Amino acid sequence: MKVVRTLKELQAETEVYKKKGKTIGFVPTMGFLHQGHMSLIAASKDQTDVTIASIYVNPSQFNDASDFESYPRDEKADFELLKNHNCDIVFVPSSSEIESLPLPEKVDLAGLENVMEGKERPGHFEGVIEIVYRLFIAVNPDFSFFGEKDFQQIMVVQKMVEATKLTTQIVGCPIIREESGLAMSSRNSRLSETGKEKASLIYEVLNNKGIAIEDKRSELEQLGLKTEYIEQHNLSNSSRLFAAVWLEGVRLIDNIPVD
Ligand code: AMP
Repeated sequence: MKVVRTLKELQAETEVYKKKGKTIGFVPTMGFLHQGHMSLIAASKDQTDVTIASIYVNPSQFNDASDFESYPRDEKADFELLKNHNCDIVFVPSSSEIESLPLPEKVDLAGLENVMEGKERPGHFEGVIEIVYRLFIAVNPDFSFFGEKDFQQIMVVQKMVEATKLTTQIVGCPIIREESGLAMSSRNSRLSETGKEKASLIYEVLNNKGIAIEDKRSELEQLGLKTEYIEQHNLSNSSRLFAAVWLEGVRLIDNIPVD
């Protein structure tokens, strides 16, 4: 696996593959990688010729400076995991490399900015759009793989791609969970062992078909899980139930399909 830190090196690498007519699959991440990220690498390996992952903790998508600072980082372990999953290239840019890339024009999010993650984390999606656009310009992937764990993010990225007329195809991949049902997340590392057990109740409560949404909220609150939102949204061809919950100072999100 090649570790690439500059745009110049990245472009030299991708040019060779593009010239040979190879398809490029891209997995953008913020590092502290786990099996959820690896499922995206596997999907990319399956569907494209060359897989590029990126690791960049993007300050502009954090609406809280201390959340950015305490975001877990472990480059060595990340490289090891990516290598073991046969990732071809990992791109680890510095902020000055990122900032040298152009920004997109303002993207109309058609209201996505006013609900759930958009509403609760002002500026978050602008930050996501900026970084994903810049990374897409740098990598020029044919396909890019995103987890349904951040379902709203996939919708936002899709809107950005359409508005900016980029040609990358966005592929959504299912949520990978711990055996307990807890959705894997880099942030779980900041939970205590009891916290992790408690956090698995989010998935259990979301899945409890016998109770109404308001009762799900009070059930979570009774269990000591502070619910920021729990909402059902009808999407183009399905409905999903979404939740954001605070536990031990950690913000956790999850979602499930509902019929
Ligand atoms: P992050 O490093 O948290 O920015 O996540 C990078 C990518 O991995 C995003 O597309 C996430 O949706 C995806 N991802 C994170 N956790 C999971 C998970 N448990 N299952 C599937 N995809 C995930």
